[in-house]
Amino acid sequence: MPVENYEKVIWLEIHVRVKSKTKMFCSCKNAVDLADEPNINVCPVCMWFPGMLPALNSEVVRLGVKAWLLMNCEINKISRFDRKSYFYPDLPNSFQTTQMYEPITWRWSVKVIVNWEVREFAIHHMHLENDAWKLIHAGGKTLADYNRAWSPLMEIVTEPVFSDKDEVMEFLKELQKMFRFGWVSDADMEKWQLRCDVNVSIRPKWEKKLGTRAELKNINSFSAIWRAIDSEFLRQVRILDSWGVIEQETRWWDDDKWVSTTQRSKEDAMDYRYFPEPDLLPVVLDDEYINQIKQEVWELPIEKRLRYLHEYKLWEDDARIITADKDLALYFDTIVELTKDPKKSCSYITTVLLSLINECNDKWWICNLKFEPSELAKVIELVNKDELSSTNSKTVIEELYKSGWSTEEIVDRLWLRQKNDLWALETIVDDVIAKLPTQIEDYKAWNQNVFGFFVWQCMKASQGAWNPKIFTELLKKKLN
Ligand SMILES: [Zn+2]
Repeated sequence: MPVENYEKVIWLEIHVRVKSKTKMFCSCKNAVDLADEPNINVCPVCMWFPGMLPALNSEVVRLGVKAWLLMNCEINKISRFDRKSYFYPDLPNSFQTTQMYEPITWRWSVKVIVNWEVREFAIHHMHLENDAWKLIHAGGKTLADYNRAWSPLMEIVTEPVFSDKDEVMEFLKELQKMFRFGWVSDADMEKWQLRCDVNVSIRPKWEKKLGTRAELKNINSFSAIWRAIDSEFLRQVRILDSWGVIEQETRWWDDDKWVSTTQRSKEDAMDYRYFPEPDLLPVVLDDEYINQIKQEVWELPIEKRLRYLHEYKLWEDDARIITADKDLALYFDTIVELTKDPKKSCSYITTVLLSLINECNDKWWICNLKFEPSELAKVIELVNKDELSSTNSKTVIEELYKSGWSTEEIVDRLWLRQKNDLWALETIVDDVIAKLPTQIEDYKAWNQNVFGFFVWQCMKASQGAWNPKIFTELLKKKLN
């Protein structure tokens, strides 16, 4: 059967490292960037010494609730922890503490823009769980690092709602933005703060029943997910086309070779012998607590983006660039607040300010610039009042960026202010006309081309400080 007659059905299991100060069940530092030397953020609790008991970190619950509020979901006011039993050398206590039966939230959806269209993708649930230890294989030996033992994770499980990789990409990027906006996680894939298991199944286009899925485990870059989906689709098509049967299994994606290999046949939930965690009480949340956290939830990045598109009429690319980063979006909002001019604010930020930051490639990001947002707003205000030309406005912003002086100071020190005092301008225009009687007669008789020459004479007489637009208008009025 031709490849076009098959369709993909994809769903995701996403692990996100929560950015709490301390670990999930003890007071050790939660080293989210994993940069510390091995085994320094450890204590008897997270090393699972006999007799030690876990204590749930309230910050993890708070960040979890916040993440879910960011996604407009319903909170489960009573949730519980369960033990998922399995042995692996990176899990010496032989179980993971997770939420199997009553996760802290379920059933909601995330709004995403895919190919210019707003779509919603359904989530099955999200739960909290702890991370395992880390094994380092070196010199024929295996070493254990306990730094990330009991580091908190959120696992988000989607419904089988994706039909192709562009939807998966936009969804993951939106999720990443949301978590960054809410200070819940940096969700940096390179640092393993966001990693993804991709479940892929295929079926003939006319078929309603889901095909058998293969799970591609722990992929941690957007481009690798892109390649893995393509490769898995073709592998399954080849199997079905040769009358084979697709096994339910976990596969490992090798992004150097662009192939996946069987890791193990997929276990069912039963194999993990889940049972209620006896050492932890249920998590009970009341309305007051949830309302308090609601105060910390800002406008979602997707809502901002839609507002910029519909209310401010920004271009799709600009709206995307500005909402890609929370600091940048807040900076833009501040400038618009001051200037009431979204289009110009956007264009000065994306074309002038961001290229300066990129060119200089230094430590200055939008939140630690040398000048206040009000100074950039002042530049836009002067341009709108015709007191600064748009060419000169770039010079002013470069100077703001370098020196940190105020806009007014720069405009005056560099003689960039255009003067719009009509009476003074008229005097100059009259002087110029009086000094050039022959040229004026030429102009009136036959040579319209010399008009620019008069504007130039006026600019020269005013030492370039005054507004050429007004000179042009005055000259036209007087000569015609
Ligand atoms: Zn600890």
